[in-house]
Amino acid sequence: MNQQTHPDKAAHRPSEAPEPQIAWTDGEGASRTAALFGDSFGGVPDGVWAAPGRVNLIGEHVDYNGGLCLPIALPHRTFVALARRDDGVVRVVSALAPSKVWSGTVADVVPGSVSSWVAYAAGPLWSLTQDGFGVGGFDAAVDSCVPLGAGLSSSAAIECAVAVALDEVYGLGQLVLGDAGRARLAAACVRAENEVAGAPTGGMDQAASMRALAGHALLLDNVDASIEQVPFDLESAGLELLVIDTRAEHALVDGQYAARRAACHAAAGRLGVATLREVDDLDAALAVLPDPVEAARVRHVVTEIARVREFTDLVRAGRVREVGPLLDASHESLRVDYEVSCAELDLAVATARAAGALGARMTGGGFGGSAIALIEAGAAASVAGAVAAAFASAGMGEPAFLAAVAGPGAGRVAQS
Ligand code: ADP
Ligand code: MG
Repeated sequence: MNQQTHPDKAAHRPSEAPEPQIAWTDGEGASRTAALFGDSFGGVPDGVWAAPGRVNLIGEHVDYNGGLCLPIALPHRTFVALARRDDGVVRVVSALAPSKVWSGTVADVVPGSVSSWVAYAAGPLWSLTQDGFGVGGFDAAVDSCVPLGAGLSSSAAIECAVAVALDEVYGLGQLVLGDAGRARLAAACVRAENEVAGAPTGGMDQAASMRALAGHALLLDNVDASIEQVPFDLESAGLELLVIDTRAEHALVDGQYAARRAACHAAAGRLGVATLREVDDLDAALAVLPDPVEAARVRHVVTEIARVREFTDLVRAGRVREVGPLLDASHESLRVDYEVSCAELDLAVATARAAGALGARMTGGGFGGSAIALIEAGAAASVAGAVAAAFASAGMGEPAFLAAVAGPGAGRVAQS
C-alpha cells in the first residue's frame, strides 16, 4: 500500500529535513484501486469512492463522555473500488496484502464471524442491513495513504469509504440527503467498528470522515451527534498545522482505553449524571469523588470540553493565532490527569514548541500515534527537522510528518 508509510521504505537520510507525506490525488487513488480490482476480481468496478482520515484539533477522550470535539478531515484518504454483486457474495482485498482476497457471503458478515481488517471493510454491510437498508454482496479493492494505526483514523476511513460506495451502488439515497444522510451512514460505521470489529471507540472518527467539509473544522456534540461547520482557514492567518506521526507502538493500549472509559462511567454514576458532560461545577464534583485517579480523569474531561468551547470561540472570532495555549493545556491535561501520553508524544510536543510552534498536543487516543503542532507558514521543514533530530538523539524510531489542511468528507472520486 502506501509506500511512504511502510517502515522499510520510509528511511529518510538523517541529514535532510523530513518530507511531509503527500496525499494521493483522486486520479492516483482511483487508478491504484481500479488496478487492484482488475487484478483481484477481473473487470472494472462500478466506481471508486474515498473517505478521509481525520485529526482532532481539540477535545480528546471526550466523545464517549458526551463532550464536544473539533476534528478536521485530512487530505489523506482511503480509496475503495467497488462493484455490486447480486449473488450475495462478498469479496474484499487490500493493497496491504494483494494476494489475499477474502471471500464469503453476506451471511458471514456478522459480529464474531469476521476478524482482522475484513471487519472494518465489510462491517458497514452488517450495520446498514441492521438499519433496514437493502444492501447485498460486493467486490471491493482498498488502498490508502492514511497511515495505519497512527491515531489518524484509517479504520473510520475504510468503513466510511465502503459505506458511501454501498449507498450509491444499492441506491440507499443517504448521500443525496446531505448531512442528515451522512449522519446516518456515520452511525452505521460506528456500529460496524464497535460490534463487527469489536473496537469500543466513540463517534468522532466516523463523524469527521463522513461529515466534514473542506476548509472547515467539525464541531461535534456527542450528546446527539449534532454538528456545526466552523470555517477553519489557517492559510489566511499565516499558519499551518503539522501532524507528527510518532510511529510509536505501545502494548496494552486497548486495555487502557477501556479502563479510561470505565473510570469515566463509574465517576458519572457516583456523581448522578448520565455523562460527564453534565458536570457544571467541577470543584463540587471533585470534592465528592473519593478516588484521586477517578477525580483526575473527571478533571481532564470537564476542562477539555471547556477548552473546545474556548478554541472554537477564538476560531470563530478570527483569532486562531491565540489558540496555542489551549493546545498546550490540552496536552498537559492528557499527560498528567488522563495519563494517555507517552515519551514519544511528550518529546514531539516539547520539541515542536521549542522550535517555534504556537502550541502543540498529542491527538487521538494516545500511547503512541500522532501529535499536532500549530506552526508559522513555511516552518514545517524546520519544526519537522527538529523533531526528527530529537527522536534520533533519544534513540527513538523515525517519526513521519503530514501537512494537515481541512479536506472534504467521504464521497465518490472523479475517475481519471
Ligand atoms: P487508526 O484508525 O488510528 O489508523 P485502528 O487500529 O483503529 O488505527 O485501525 C487500523 C486498522 O484498520 C488496521 O489494523 C486494519 O485492520 C484496518 N485498516 C485500515 N486501513 C486499511 C487498509 N488500507 N487495508 C487494510 N486494512 C486497513
Ligand atoms: Mg481507528
